[in-house]
Formats: sequence, C-alpha cells, structure tokens
Amino acid sequence: MNKDKKSTDFRDRKLVSLRDAQEAVAAGATSIVIAEKCVVTPSARDFLQQRNVSLEAAGNGTSAIAVPVAVAHEGSSPVRPAANPRLFSTPEAEEIKKEICATGKKLWLRQFVDGNGGNISYRIGPNEVLCTPTLVSKYDLTPEDISLVDLEGNQIAGTKPRTSEIFLHLEIYKSVPEAKSVVHCHPPHATAYAITGKVPPNMIIPEFEVFVGKVAISPYKTPGTAEFAQTVIPYVRQHNTVLLANHGIVCWADTVTHAEWYAEVLETYCWTLLLASQLGQPISYISEQQGSDLLELKKKLGLPDIRFDTSRMKECQLADLEMPNSIALTPTPCDGNTGRAGNMGGDAEVEMLVRQVTDAVMQAISAK
Ligand SMILES: [Zn+2]
Repeated sequence: MNKDKKSTDFRDRKLVSLRDAQEAVAAGATSIVIAEKCVVTPSARDFLQQRNVSLEAAGNGTSAIAVPVAVAHEGSSPVRPAANPRLFSTPEAEEIKKEICATGKKLWLRQFVDGNGGNISYRIGPNEVLCTPTLVSKYDLTPEDISLVDLEGNQIAGTKPRTSEIFLHLEIYKSVPEAKSVVHCHPPHATAYAITGKVPPNMIIPEFEVFVGKVAISPYKTPGTAEFAQTVIPYVRQHNTVLLANHGIVCWADTVTHAEWYAEVLETYCWTLLLASQLGQPISYISEQQGSDLLELKKKLGLPDIRFDTSRMKECQLADLEMPNSIALTPTPCDGNTGRAGNMGGDAEVEMLVRQVTDAVMQAISAK
C-alpha cells in the first residue's frame, strides 16, 4: 500500500512556506517530514491538505510519526505548536476579552440569544482560542469569565468551563486560516429560515450582498457533538455565514465585532424579507449590472463568496439541495453563458425562459 509513497525531508527547516510545499508536491511528494518545532504556514498547510499530502513530525529518534494535515474530521490532528497559556493574559487578550463581553451584550440586547445560548470565540494564536464559558448569559459576561482552549478544545486557562459548542468554532478555525473570530447565536428571523430548510434569496439588499451574500445551510446534528461541529466544514471557506438547520447561525470574520455584524446583517435581512412577504407585492431585485458591481466591491474588501468561484458554485448548490425541503428561493445556476461571476438572481433566468417560450410561440404562430 505504501509503495507509491514519496516523502520529502524538510527536517532541517524551521519554516515550511507555500513555495516549499508547492516545490515538494511538484516533485511528487505524498508526504513531508518536518522537525517537531517546524512552523508550517497556513497557506502551505492548506495547499498540502487540498492535495492529500501528509505532514510527518519526526520525533527525537529517526522514526517519523504520520500526522495528516488538517483532516480533523477524519479523527486525526495536524502538527501544531504546543498551546501557550501565556497568551491568556497579554494586553491583546485583555482587550479581546472586553470586546467579547461587549459583543455578548449586543447579542442579548438584540435578542439573538436566550438563556445561556450562543457563544463567541477569538483565535489569539496558532493553537490558542479565547472563548465564552458554558452556562453564562451573554448579557452577564465579564472578562474573568473568558477561557482559553487549544484547537482540540482542551482548556488551557480560565476558571469557568469553556462552552460545549467550542468544537463548532474550532472546525471553522481549522478550515479557514483567515477566520480570527466566530460568533454563534440564535436570531429568530434567520433561525426561522434555518428551521424551514430555506436559504434567503439574493440580490435584494446591497449591504447583505456585500457583507454576507450567499448563505449556506448545514444539516442538523445534535449540538455540542463532534458530528455537529463538522457539519459546517464544506461551507465555511466560501461562506462567512452559515444557517445551522433547526438551530441557529454561525458567522466568522477577522474581528469579534465584525463576526457579530454579519449576524446582525443576516438577521435584519431575513426579518425584512419576512415583512415584505406580507405586503402582497412582488419583491424587486437589483439589476444584473448593479449586482456585478456589488460583487466587485466585495472582492476588493477581501470577503468570501461562493459566487467568485463558478466551479464550486455547482458543488454548493448540490449540497444545499440535499437538505430536506430545501428551496433556494432564487434558482442559482452556474452561469457559464453570460460570463458573470456566478448567479445574479433568479429573475434574470425567468426572464430569459419567458423570452424563449414567447419566441417559440411566436414562431409557431407565424409558421401557420
Ligand atoms: Zn446554539
């Protein structure tokens, strides 16, 4: 079974960059052996993971232990530096703890959480994550309540036990190196979509397109379990906001404040759509050109969107359609015909269909 295995030896390196990883793969490596304390950059790690190239940490002796890169969903852990408990009380950590508490208050005041629901985290180091405790209302949080965990969920510092839903956050950090903060909450209007298996339609309100855009929906699993945490893995690279079926939502961003903003943007959007649906008038959509402009702006801001990648668009749609009763309110074709970056809303497609049908009818009539 190992006869096709080709290993590249990087034991003399302190750092493995994306370039090193690319060179090794170009040379046909199926595994890379590194020294125990070697740092592998997130982009190199990502690149290797996508090509199923494993990292092997060489121990003190000569034998190497195979450690597949970032395939936590298969039950193994990637090579990471040991968690540093000192990151818990740095000036940066103290500031982040205050930001987490302020964000918790916002979530509670906006009725995005109830009881002890919801949780907030921040990745303060490569293997260190600050997070909210279990069984504390987000309104009542104080900086002393915050704990520090490693990327496997082991608590390293803090007096209160960490949230049981930390694994959801950790899967996002493992899958998306750009994610610095994760916010999970249960805002009622977005959750209304999540319990019906529907995702909100697109190209209606500009702010939503730019900051959130196409929302994915992950299948239901029991909260707090590893299975639940892993449901978001297929979506989080190209969606900063995911509806969790029969549960709530999860958002990631570069800061705690921004992750909470995305929750606000999604919730207000869902609320507005539900209000509009009661007015008895059809919703008007943003035009194709204006939609393209919004996506251009989004690209410049460095925000993720599945519509930037037409090859992944189809994959995402299929995943969405697997959900029971899932209805994408605007059909989302992989738009290869118009050269647009993904779908601009179903109305254009409907319009095209109507035109085709009308043409066919007119042809049939004139042939008589
Ligand atoms: Zn929850």
